[in-house]
Amino acid sequence: MLDDRYMPKYRFASVCDITTADLEKMGVSGLLLDIDNTLIYDETLTPLPGVKEWVNKMNSAGIPLAIVSNAILPRVFITAKRLGIRHYIYSAKKPKPDGLLRAADKLGLPINSLAMVGDQLKTDMFSANIAGAVAVFTDRAQDEKIFKFYFKKARAGEKELLAEFERRKNGE
Ligand SMILES: [Mg+2]
Repeated sequence: MLDDRYMPKYRFASVCDITTADLEKMGVSGLLLDIDNTLIYDETLTPLPGVKEWVNKMNSAGIPLAIVSNAILPRVFITAKRLGIRHYIYSAKKPKPDGLLRAADKLGLPINSLAMVGDQLKTDMFSANIAGAVAVFTDRAQDEKIFKFYFKKARAGEKELLAEFERRKNGE
């Protein structure tokens, strides 16, 4: 599946490593954020280490943030409230681009001025690329513990794509 639509433009170990200087470098003014394994541990309501502080920093810097998650309303709402993220889209149906476009509308910003940050190539990066947002990949916090069969399929081919991403980054 060496398809550029799955390919991130940038990669970070954690969302917390993304700085306002990085946003400038990427040419974006706001962030769309996946939740599971990006902001919180998969299928929990527990933020990853440092995420709360990172959101505070982004909020203080005036960086517009919106969650775009395929999860259902209660989890998305609780996560947004707890982390202090004002805007959110739930049941986003990524890899479809619609949720990202709706989030851009909520933020009042053009989609190409936003980055979509997430831990899955086939949902987060694909939707970012087809919507016209900058695709920013973060390494997942941990392997999924439930829905293992689903994720095995969802993540098939990721290793090869990320290896290709690293080759390109290194100009090979
Ligand atoms: Mg995720």
